[in-house]
Amino acid sequence: MPPVVRKLRVQVALASRSLSIGGHDDFNQGQVSARIPGADFMLIKGALKGFDECTPEDVIVASLDPKAPAPPLAPPELPLHQAVYEARPDVHGVVHSHAPHTLVFGATDLPLRPVSHEGAYFEDRIDRFTMTSNTILDMTTARGVADALGDDPAVLLRNHGGVIVGKSVRHATVHAHTLERACRLQLIAERVPGGYHTSTPEDVLAKREFIYGDLAVRSYWAHSVGRVRRTWPETAQWARFERADAPQS
Ligand SMILES: [Zn+2]
Repeated sequence: MPPVVRKLRVQVALASRSLSIGGHDDFNQGQVSARIPGADFMLIKGALKGFDECTPEDVIVASLDPKAPAPPLAPPELPLHQAVYEARPDVHGVVHSHAPHTLVFGATDLPLRPVSHEGAYFEDRIDRFTMTSNTILDMTTARGVADALGDDPAVLLRNHGGVIVGKSVRHATVHAHTLERACRLQLIAERVPGGYHTSTPEDVLAKREFIYGDLAVRSYWAHSVGRVRRTWPETAQWARFERADAPQS
């Protein structure tokens, strides 16, 4: 396994744990994946593991090609990830979860407004996928999700959850947290008698550039990894999975 892939495998496991801290767990689980640079493969959290228990050993390699046989431990929603990578060459990380506020917000017809910094990131670039609210199990449905995603950073799956993408698995994970908080804060604001104000278009653009620029996202990822390490101190040992002489499974 090349060094870049070993490192990416640890990142997918860290992303899983971070999503758990952010409240993305449920019995039905979700997935996080990373495209392997220059290859027709991805790394994805395997089936049967929750975000809260995923280790680098639970991250499996799967083909980007939907016609290739799926690995035995591939999650049932693998086609969702394959369709997004197929449609979006710029995307190198995908999160799909059933996070509660994202899910409830997706069940409404409300436009996502810039109530908070987080809402500013997504305003006017997040649609709803309404073809089905069921699990995404086949490529026809999965390509429908990719169509609804378009060039956006995320799409809401009505009565199901969210799909958040990024140019790296770190970006996708940070923005999965961003979306969950954006939805939560707007759902709170919607209940306030008398309505609420939102950021101006100028502020929205400024926030995207400064608060969600690459430098900032890097620091948010570092913060997320720090929280994972504080929550599960044993994850500090995962650096061994990045070494070539470590047992690789
Ligand atoms: Zn799902």
